Amino acid sequence: MHLGRVFDCQLITDMSEPTFFADGLRFDCLRCGACCTGEEGYVFLTEEDVERLMKGLGLTRDELIERHLRIVDGKYSLQETEDGRCVFWAGDCKAYEHRPYQCMSYPFWPSIMRSKESWNQLATTCVGVGRGRVHTEEEIRGWLRGFPRKLIGITPLSGEK
Ligand code: SF4
Repeated sequence: MHLGRVFDCQLITDMSEPTFFADGLRFDCLRCGACCTGEEGYVFLTEEDVERLMKGLGLTRDELIERHLRIVDGKYSLQETEDGRCVFWAGDCKAYEHRPYQCMSYPFWPSIMRSKESWNQLATTCVGVGRGRVHTEEEIRGWLRGFPRKLIGITPLSGEK
């Protein structure tokens, strides 16, 4: 899974600066799985993500951790198979309705939205870029604003040592 390969928490600090996406961007995930398979990657989880997955999959916290999570640099991330497939990918995402913020917000990540070049680069690997409806600048800024708030506290999970 290479979804998290380019993931980082770097913020677009000055949200008043003009952006290359002032007119919005077309994107529609075709659920092809290209970003959920392949090279190694990471999907880090917030406490909200963990609770949503527990509830959606009907698992206890311990069951979720044992079956679907691994620890990377002291943070919980989704497991992946030896061939790099996300633990939830089996021809389609088996946890789509309960997927983590990192998946929900893709590709509107700080690391991608920092420049038009990054966005254009993404178009070489993601068939959803340039398709579907226009996501407005405000929508995209909303995803970006969610990152610092959502990702604080990814480690440790409350109740975990
Ligand atoms: S269309 Fe893009 S975001 Fe959706 S699964 Fe394929 S590579 Fe991932």
